[in-house]
Amino acid sequence: MLDVRQIRNDFPILDTGIIYLDSAASSLTPEPVLETMLEFYRQYRGNVGRGIHRLSVKASEEYERVHGKVADLIGAKSRAEIVMVRNTTEGINLVACGLKWKKGDKVVTSIIEHHSNFIVWLRVRDRRGVHVEVVRPKAPVEDGILDPADFAKVIDDSTKLVALTHVSNVLGVVTPVREIAEIAHEHGAYVLIDAAQSVPHMKVDVQRVGCDFLAFSGHKMCAPTGSGALYIREELIDEVEPLCIGGGTIGDVEFDSYKLDESPRRFEAGTPDIGGTIGLGAAIEYLQRIGMENIERHEKDLVSQMYEALSELPKVEVYGPEPERRVGILPFNVSDLNPHDVALALDVSADIMVRSGHHCALPLSKSILGKPGSVRASVYIYNTREEINKFVSTVKEIAETLAK
Ligand code: PMP
Repeated sequence: MLDVRQIRNDFPILDTGIIYLDSAASSLTPEPVLETMLEFYRQYRGNVGRGIHRLSVKASEEYERVHGKVADLIGAKSRAEIVMVRNTTEGINLVACGLKWKKGDKVVTSIIEHHSNFIVWLRVRDRRGVHVEVVRPKAPVEDGILDPADFAKVIDDSTKLVALTHVSNVLGVVTPVREIAEIAHEHGAYVLIDAAQSVPHMKVDVQRVGCDFLAFSGHKMCAPTGSGALYIREELIDEVEPLCIGGGTIGDVEFDSYKLDESPRRFEAGTPDIGGTIGLGAAIEYLQRIGMENIERHEKDLVSQMYEALSELPKVEVYGPEPERRVGILPFNVSDLNPHDVALALDVSADIMVRSGHHCALPLSKSILGKPGSVRASVYIYNTREEINKFVSTVKEIAETLAK
């Protein structure tokens, strides 16, 4: 079980009375994470990987230790497989720009992707003459459930990469990534998982998923903005060209040549976000102390409560599958009201923060929901059943007073 009361003490911003239901966009940051970052800035501020003095040595040790913590969190075999990046978007772009594409290669993705795992592949198509195949969910499409059988129809021996979200940031639906990865590997294709909405909320194991690349952002899991990680399966490290090279990435340099260092250093050019990465390490420890299974169960509980209550409201249309198939994300619309107006009304009238708009997934919004946007409520470790009650009653009031 998860002790929400105890957890809430670590988030003093909640004492102001806000109800934060926008963690899928970015989570709040707990005090222990802030303290760990401040410790770096106050007590051992120095650059990493370069200095011999004690501050630099301590900063390097703490920074490098986070690679190990990420590896442990996602079940990677070694620290060499973990590259620190600014966010999920950078991780995905690193793979897109770094793989050795040839004309005629195929990328298979889906229509429920976030733009960060979609337009990236359209650009590879435009630059490298690669084909992009976009799989749609099975009926009813509004649930967003992807069927491995549909992937089996389009993945062939020319497929170089299957790029898929683990969890949709709009519908909250969990994708059967393991089954799809198996099909991809039968054809020698690599599998990239956008784990921005899964790693913060459930136990994710790259061996179980069977992926070759996996990217996630720290800011959605109690860590500071500007921190995140990309997993690259050990055997593929030499298949990916670093996005940037320069200081910190070299094994040796001559006047007319250079040799890159081992992974992960070769991928982490320049001075990294040392404080942010150390904060990510603290956030991982924080979440692991609570337990990823407990977090998943808590969110499932809250999203079920929200789903059942909102589904009963006249004038409210809830999107996505039954709670069993989703994490703590719930999109909806209130009759003919603009989603931004609903979000604003929730904030102004009841201090409730939600996201509104297309959620960086326009192909999904337009062709699956048939709407330019929606309101999205998302929960995390600090949310309570009382907050969900208040949220639902405020949506009801908005529907009764503002909607036609
Ligand atoms: N993919 C998904 C599924 C997301 O939800 C997000 C964030 N909304 C991203 C990618 C991009 O994450 P970031 O902005 O941290 O790069």
